[in-house]
Amino acid sequence: MGGKYVYKEPAPLKGSEDDPFESMMARFEVASELLGLEPGVYEFLKVPEKQIIVSIPIQMDDGSVQVFEGYRVIHSSVRGPSKGGVRFGPDVNLNEVKALAAWMTWKCAVVNIPFGGAKGGVRLDPRSLTTTQLEKVTRRYTAALLDILGPESDVPAPDMNTNEQIMGWIMDTYSMHARHTVTAVVTGKPVYLGGSLGRREATGRGVMVVALRAMERLGLKPQQCRVVVQGFGNVGSVAAKLLEEQGCKVVAISDITGGYHNPKGIDVQGAIDYVREHGSLEGFNGGDRVSNEELLELDCDILVPAAKEDQITSKNADRIKAKIIVEGANGPTTAKADPILESRGVYVVPDILANAGGVTVSYFEWVQNRMGYSWTLEDVNARLARIMTESFDEVAATAEKFGVSMRLGAYILGIDRVAKTLKLRGIYA
Ligand code: GLU
Repeated sequence: MGGKYVYKEPAPLKGSEDDPFESMMARFEVASELLGLEPGVYEFLKVPEKQIIVSIPIQMDDGSVQVFEGYRVIHSSVRGPSKGGVRFGPDVNLNEVKALAAWMTWKCAVVNIPFGGAKGGVRLDPRSLTTTQLEKVTRRYTAALLDILGPESDVPAPDMNTNEQIMGWIMDTYSMHARHTVTAVVTGKPVYLGGSLGRREATGRGVMVVALRAMERLGLKPQQCRVVVQGFGNVGSVAAKLLEEQGCKVVAISDITGGYHNPKGIDVQGAIDYVREHGSLEGFNGGDRVSNEELLELDCDILVPAAKEDQITSKNADRIKAKIIVEGANGPTTAKADPILESRGVYVVPDILANAGGVTVSYFEWVQNRMGYSWTLEDVNARLARIMTESFDEVAATAEKFGVSMRLGAYILGIDRVAKTLKLRGIYA
């Protein structure tokens, strides 16, 4: 593995700008060069360990058979069992899952939990399937991956369009085959099935913790900050609520139905109640309607993109007015947008740090399951806040040491930890 990795030319975006794998690789390449990563280590880490595609045949209610495509990509198990969510969506594809799996590897290393990285997904439109059909898909997907999954090998969790119930079905299916209950095979389960207190809110809570740290760095008080949140799911709604509790004014929120802007402040709890009752923000009258694109460019201090990939691109990065971006989603900013935001002095708390609260409490859940013991909510939240704060400070120190952005600081910190572990383990042959 000797020598030094030399980065040859500016990160080539071979595909289109909004290819998340290209965006991940562009940052990986720059960070690898800055780190002076050895060529062998670079070659090892740039490719996933395993990429699995499974067919999921489901008998529909009318007797017809529909076959869905499912994926699980294990990017790395160097630091421990691979960890990462499973998402459902009509656009889910192998390339996206590959990028997300690598991000999980760097993310777990940034917060220094003993996991590698993975991601899974099934290409389907969850709104067009009944609960029974979703259960069948989940169980068949789990059955197809029985050899891969396991508390010591690969541990799924919720992601876009998946939830506690779906994790419960994964746990049950795996346990039926194992002939005993295996709670630690999946995290983000219902509390009744061994889920951790605080897991559901963990990603949004982590976003709040690092947002406070970023404000402190920039000399801003929460009371001075207007916040815009894109996405009102498990991450966005909790982040909005907790930032409001800290004294920030949430001036706009959005979901798949569009954005809602109110410079006087959105009633966040009212919006959460509205979604609980109506299923989405459609018809919410707590603010003026804006599109999801307009929302990103609103006048504000903190922008929390908590929806999906490729929202801040080379096309709109120069119109973002926020001073701080805290990435609740995975990959909301393309690699091409990075230098534009940087040149404009926008302080970006990158995804692999900002949204790591979810996997951090997943780690707590896995630990509790293996101990057969459960922690109090206070304990979970205190440990989460400590890890998020310390990780923020470590990323900031790395960024300062290398004279780079928080994004590259996070990649450097994460890649370096994985590389050090890999070198000590060596390559088995
Ligand atoms: N899906 C979440 C993420 O992207 C959580 C993963 C986990 O808890 O394993 O970080």
